[in-house]
Amino acid sequence: MKIAVFPGSFDPITKGHTDIVERALPLFDQIIVAVGINSSKKYFFSLNQRLTFLKAAFEHEPKVKIDTYQQLTVDYCHSQGAQFMLRGIRNASDFVYENTIAQLNRVMGKDLETVFLISDAPYNYYSSTIVREILYGGGDVSTFVPESVFKLISK
Ligand code: ADP
Repeated sequence: MKIAVFPGSFDPITKGHTDIVERALPLFDQIIVAVGINSSKKYFFSLNQRLTFLKAAFEHEPKVKIDTYQQLTVDYCHSQGAQFMLRGIRNASDFVYENTIAQLNRVMGKDLETVFLISDAPYNYYSSTIVREILYGGGDVSTFVPESVFKLISK
């Protein structure tokens, strides 16, 4: 069974994230969308809210599981029997960052392979950060987040 972990903060999930997962589905038997809990990081949405959004975004996708983890990402992948990590790349700065992390993860979790998908336009300029900034300013984020998530945020 081919299992991939898609790790992130998902604060909140955007259509950029769902696009990566949907495009990766034919490659894997299961994709675990996993929220990394970093106690020193400040989040806009609570862990429960982020999980609720993720569950809503993928509720019709049986191959997607939602989870949380606190340990090193490589250790979490091993605990799940995952051989792959999934990441999205939007631009050169994502590449520089992801390249470092992927090399580090190859050293720490030898059998783990990171699979990168390049963002499709227009998602290459979508980010959780712009969604949070629009929300701070009281704007409409319906373009950027899945419809089911927009409904939950609007509540
Ligand atoms: P992190 O805190 O690890 O950066 P994110 O939740 O921001 O977590 O992102 C998780 C993954 O999704 C990363 O690989 C990131 O590059 C990717 N990603 C985020 N936004 C997009 C997007 N619009 N298109 C493609 N990939 C994206």
